[in-house]
Amino acid sequence: MKQFMFGYRDAETFNGRLTEFKSLCSINNVSKMMFQIYSEILEEDKISEVCSIIEEVFPDTLYMGCSTSGNITDCQLAHPVTVACTVFEFPSTQVKIYQYDIGNEPVNSITWKILEESRLNPWVKAIELFFTIPENSSTRFCDGLKELREDIQVFGGVACSDDITSDASCVFSKDGGYSRKSIIAVFYGGNDFYVDSINVTGWKPLGRKFHVTKSDGCILHELDGIPAYDVYHKYLNIKNDENFFYNTLEFPLFYEHNGTTILRTPVASNADGSITMTSDMDIGSVVRISYGDPGTIIESIKEDSKKLYEFQPDLMHIFSCAARRTFWTSKEPTYEIYPFKDISPSSGFFSHGEFLRTKGNLNQHNVTLVIAGMREGNRKELSAPVIPSGEKELSKVPLVSRLATFISVTSLELEEINKKLGLANDKLKTAAIIDGMTGLYNRKEIQTQIEKKLGNINRTKFSIAMFDIDNFKQVNDTYGHQEGDAVIIALAGILNNERAIYTEKLSAGRWGGEEFMLLLNDTDISAATLIADLIRQCFSNTSFPSVRTQTVSVGVTQAREDDSIDTLCTRVDTALYKAKKTGKNRVVVI
Ligand code: GH3
Ligand code: MG
Ligand code: MG
Repeated sequence: MKQFMFGYRDAETFNGRLTEFKSLCSINNVSKMMFQIYSEILEEDKISEVCSIIEEVFPDTLYMGCSTSGNITDCQLAHPVTVACTVFEFPSTQVKIYQYDIGNEPVNSITWKILEESRLNPWVKAIELFFTIPENSSTRFCDGLKELREDIQVFGGVACSDDITSDASCVFSKDGGYSRKSIIAVFYGGNDFYVDSINVTGWKPLGRKFHVTKSDGCILHELDGIPAYDVYHKYLNIKNDENFFYNTLEFPLFYEHNGTTILRTPVASNADGSITMTSDMDIGSVVRISYGDPGTIIESIKEDSKKLYEFQPDLMHIFSCAARRTFWTSKEPTYEIYPFKDISPSSGFFSHGEFLRTKGNLNQHNVTLVIAGMREGNRKELSAPVIPSGEKELSKVPLVSRLATFISVTSLELEEINKKLGLANDKLKTAAIIDGMTGLYNRKEIQTQIEKKLGNINRTKFSIAMFDIDNFKQVNDTYGHQEGDAVIIALAGILNNERAIYTEKLSAGRWGGEEFMLLLNDTDISAATLIADLIRQCFSNTSFPSVRTQTVSVGVTQAREDDSIDTLCTRVDTALYKAKKTGKNRVVVI
């Protein structure tokens, strides 16, 4: 594959250069080629002018293009209207261009057609997408391509215009014409065609985590229960005005989706405090505001440029978010892609969103750099080890990026400390009220709960039941403490199951050694007796390795108006004593 670039200045010059190029092609027997036009100018007449010259000089050649927020040629900012011509050198290579009218055709019909095209043409190895700015979320489109053959790579960009805050954009192609609402898919493939694609963000999470607590498709309503807009306002002082989109561009949300880290920028803030994103935001997902850190970006780029260098592409297509251009300031908009420049010729544009298929899932990214390397024929032997191209001296690392690093590190540290404190606190809290051996409440806690219940003037009726395992000393003496422990744990397990069934109603605690206390809220004496007897029966049916079976005696009583903790506990103790005296393995009520 070879790439030839043309900057469109005026019709006459372009016509002259194309005609010259045509004679060069016929000398070299070029049979297959494609033109891709990137235009910062959105107007139909200007674009038609360029297209008609291509059609005039190369009537049989495919072409397509889109509006952009800046064009890239060989990793440098290029002419406002740039024409890239790709010449395919291997007869086996195939290319097809389709344009789908998203204004009139349902999304699922378009994705079905793309799937069908790939199924009918097993040669397809890559699909390059060009979208006009979608009115709604692109999630349905992306999800609709899940069934694509696993080895097909998908990449591309959303068209843009020189005003990145505007939602006007266009795509156009030879067969589909000029459109403000379409998707173009370029299918590439063939036996000798190879492709490899990467994405680079380099953006770093900044500050604390938020959970998506309310969303509806791509409308993000709430983060941690507060309107999503308030988060941008509170933490970044971004106002809900016509500059909202522009001001949030550098601070996208950073979140994990489909196993990939994705950056999402809000496209609009709404009157109800929600914000509109480019793709769906799943409830429950964790997001962070993020910020571009020049050091991290350059490091990721160095790593990824090695991967592409090893792939040895003939040419690269670059889709870089318009927000990245803003980030690197107007003086050095292509600073970050400079390390790729020695790998191969390249063309591309600054986009409104970027597409890349990773791990079988197509995602729309924002603030991301997607690069696809393409090659015909086998990889050439690498003559030298991988050395990424030298960096240009960056004039100034902005102070703000150092502050962003500072905030990011301190908030991560705080999160760590909170996590540790939280764990330690939870552990301490738990240890103070739970009996370690049985997992039930300890004596102090169950007694406090009964006291609280008694002290509540609006209290409803409640009962308590006291359990004492029968002839327990014998178990210890005959079979040892371990068997004794197993018996205690078994009764505790039954009490715990009951507590789980009645949840709010029951509280169970270990009163001492092999004695347990049950607090039965909103339960009168007859219901309490029934539950106590069920537990007694269940325990008596439990079998143990050595002691086989074991029984328990129970005293039950209902709290009276004038009860204190002492009178109530004495009564239940008396009931239990009676149960022991009258033959054990029974429930006695007072
Ligand atoms: P009764 O039927 O009248 O209740 O007779 P008993 O043998 O069960 O008598 P009592 O309730 O007085 O016995 C309690 C025994 O429980 C005494 C103590 O050695 C034993 N014990 C207390 N805590 C534990 C424990 O955590 N593990 C074990 N294995 N035994 C314990
Ligand atoms: Mg006892
Ligand atoms: Mg006992």
